[in-house]
Amino acid sequence: MLKNVLEEALRKLLPEVYKVKKDLCSCSQCQEDVLALALRALPPKYVSREVGEVFARLELENPQVQVDMLEALLQAADIVIARPRCATSKEGQKGQKEESDT
Ligand SMILES: [Zn+2]
Repeated sequence: MLKNVLEEALRKLLPEVYKVKKDLCSCSQCQEDVLALALRALPPKYVSREVGEVFARLELENPQVQVDMLEALLQAADIVIARPRCATSKEGQKGQKEESDT
């Protein structure tokens, strides 16, 4: 469940990523890819089961941790920009037909 705490914290930082990475596709597929890549890139201590959820949340408020998370997100964004997996970013395909909000 702590992974969810981290994911939640990363999700909150996504708008910051989009401010910096103007080329990053904003469809849900790419957002999930960036989150997944950042989650995998972050040190295991942030997803440690040694600490409780409350402590995990507090730690994630730490400015240094925020910087680490943002860095991981920006690196993940570069990967997704280079190789977007979604249909919407393919050339000549505007619109988000594949998308369905469930
Ligand atoms: Zn996309």
